[in-house]
Amino acid sequence: MVSLTEENYLKAIFALSEREPDARVSTNAIAQRLNTAAASVTDMLKRLAEKHLVAYERYKGASLTPAGKAIAVDLVRKHRLWEFFLTEKLGFAWDEVHEMAEDLEHVDHPELIDRLADFLGNPRYDPHGDPIPDRRGHIAYHNPLHLAELAPGERARVLAVDQDAPDDPELLRFLSKIGLVLGASVEVVAAEDYDDARLVRIEGAEPRAISDKVGMRLLVRRESPKGA
Ligand SMILES: [Zn+2]
Repeated sequence: MVSLTEENYLKAIFALSEREPDARVSTNAIAQRLNTAAASVTDMLKRLAEKHLVAYERYKGASLTPAGKAIAVDLVRKHRLWEFFLTEKLGFAWDEVHEMAEDLEHVDHPELIDRLADFLGNPRYDPHGDPIPDRRGHIAYHNPLHLAELAPGERARVLAVDQDAPDDPELLRFLSKIGLVLGASVEVVAAEDYDDARLVRIEGAEPRAISDKVGMRLLVRRESPKGA
C-alpha cells in the first residue's frame, strides 16, 4: 500500500525531474515544493526507498525507480483526466479545478479511470494544455517555446501554461481576462529590449503589452508569419 502522503512525494519528485529523468532531486527541493521540513523529507525518502519506489542516497538526493515512476505518472494521468472532466463536463473554469483534482487523483479504481478516459474521448491535453499520459504511461510533451521567446512579426498559438501555473489561480484568471487562453492566436508586434516586454496582438485585437513574467509562463506553437 502507498499512502496519500507517499503518493504526493512520488509526484513531487517526478515533477522536479520530469525533464531530466536521470537527475537526482535534492531533499531541499522536495521540502520546498511540498512546503515541509527537510528532516521529514529525509525520513520519507528512506521509507520510500525501503518500498523500492525511490533510489535514495544521503547527500546525493533521490530519483524514482521504475515502480515509483509508474505510480507518479498514473497520478498525473488521473489528475489531468479529472481536470478535463471538471471543465468539460461540469463547467468549472480552468482556475478552479486544480485543487479538486489534487483530491480526486488519489481515488484508486483503475477501471473507473479507464472508463472516465473513454467517456471523455481519451483527451491528449488537460485544460491547462499539459499532456495527459496515456494508458501505457506515455507522455506527449510539447516543445517548450515560450511566448516571451517570439520575435516581432512572429505569430503563434497558445498551447499550454507552464506546469506550475495550474497552482496559480490568479495568473489563470488574469490570462482569461486578457484572452490569453489555450488556442488563442497571438502576434508579436514589437519587443522592448529594456524590460523584455512584448507588444502582443491577441486574437486580432488591439496590441497590448505582455511582460516577460507572463510571457515565460505560456507555451506556444510558432505559426508562419502572415502571408508566408
Ligand atoms: Zn492540476
